[in-house]
This record gives sequence, structure tokens and C-alpha cells, in this order.
Amino acid sequence: MSRIDFAARRQAMVAQQIEARGITDPRVLAAMREVPREDFVSPGWREEAYHDGPLPIEAEQTISQPYIVALMCEALMLQGDERVLEIGTGSGYAAAVLARLAAEVHSVECIAELAELATKRLASHHCSNVAVHAGDGSLGWPNAAPYDAIVVTAAGPDLPAALKAQLKIGGRLVMPVGERHGAQELLRLTRTGEHDEQREVLLPVRFVPLTGAQGWPG
Ligand code: SAM
Repeated sequence: MSRIDFAARRQAMVAQQIEARGITDPRVLAAMREVPREDFVSPGWREEAYHDGPLPIEAEQTISQPYIVALMCEALMLQGDERVLEIGTGSGYAAAVLARLAAEVHSVECIAELAELATKRLASHHCSNVAVHAGDGSLGWPNAAPYDAIVVTAAGPDLPAALKAQLKIGGRLVMPVGERHGAQELLRLTRTGEHDEQREVLLPVRFVPLTGAQGWPG
């Protein structure tokens, strides 16, 4: 399939899967119209790139459903000047979207092979404001903290204390929380004070598990 055909499918995906489901942030919609998802899936899955669901990637992990990427990005309420932390780089696709929405993105992936592949993909798409780090993201990435926004793309038993501590006051943490292989909810925590927070449930979701010290045992 040619670049032009993929671009047409991408525009249709944004209209039918994302705008039609109520995502309205124009910056999020523009970013989703730009990032070529076909370049972030495994080579054998390019034809399915605009499928309305998650797809398999290397190391038995997944690239998230486009709608969920857009919803999580919108929930972070980014204006463009923020420093953002993503936990679970996976393919690098969501990081490429975040690169268009924030000033600086740090993304942590616990599988070294995925971190390496994502680094190459992001470089080939000129995402020079994204740094990928290999490590246990359940502990965040203290070297660049504090963050205006944190997004976790794997589900944990609860919101990790380390991530809350690395959030600025006023910052937002968006993360799926629930059972390891069952019911989960996407939560948004806003840090409203040094020791105060507000939690909102956004919607029921299904994510791969967040492993690590403040996630599930690997
Ligand atoms: N954001 C990704 C994308 O755009 O392709 C999708 C990520 S996939 C749903 C979840 C990822 O979280 C997997 O790549 C998995 O290896 C990673 N992960 C799970 N636990 C982790 C941890 N403790 N630290 C960092 N990454 C973790």
C-alpha cells in the first residue's frame, strides 16, 4: 500500500474512530492525523495499522488502540509547554503523538529490545524532543522529575507512589488500574496539593500488566 493510501486511512480513522467517539481537543486530533501508525507496528501488520483496536508488536506486547491513545492524551490536558513522562514506550507510537503535544517527553520501557526499536523509530520520525529510557517505569524517571503530566500505558494494581511523587502540583497522572488480567478502569489523578489529590474514573479499559517494583510481579 502506498503512503497516500495510508494517509487516507489515517484521516478516516481519526474521523470515524476518534472524533465520532467524542474526542474534541484540536491539538490531539491534529497529532493523530499526522503520526503514521503503519511505521510503528511490526512489519507484518502494516496493512492493519488503522484497525480500531490494539495490535501485536515485538516481545509479545501491544500498540494501543488509536482511540485510547487519543483519549489518554486528551485527558492529560496538554498546552504545548509541558514536560511529560510516559511509562510503557512499547512501539513508540504514543510517544510520537505526545511529542507533538508537549515540549519534552521522557518515555520508559522495561523491555530493552522495545526501547531500542522505539528509539530508532522516533529518530526516523524526527521526534527530537523524546528521550526513551530502558528501565522499570513503575518507579518513574526521577532524573527528569517533576513532570506536568504522566501517562502509564500498562495497568497496575494501584497508582504507584513513585509516580505521584514525581508529579508537579497541578499535574495530571493518567493510568489504568485494576486486576492483572481482568476488570480495569482508566483513572486520572490531579495532584491538587503537597498531600492532596483528586481522582476521577474515565472509563473501563483492558491493558497489559505494568510489571516492576510498584506494579505486578514480572
Ligand atoms: N504506548 C505504547 C505504544 O504506543 O505502542 C503501548 C504500550 S503497551 C500497551 C505497554 C508497554 O508497557 C509494554 O511495552 C510493556 O513492556 C511496558 N511495561 C510494562 N511494565 C513496565 C514497567 N514497569 N516499566 C516500563 N514499561 C513497562
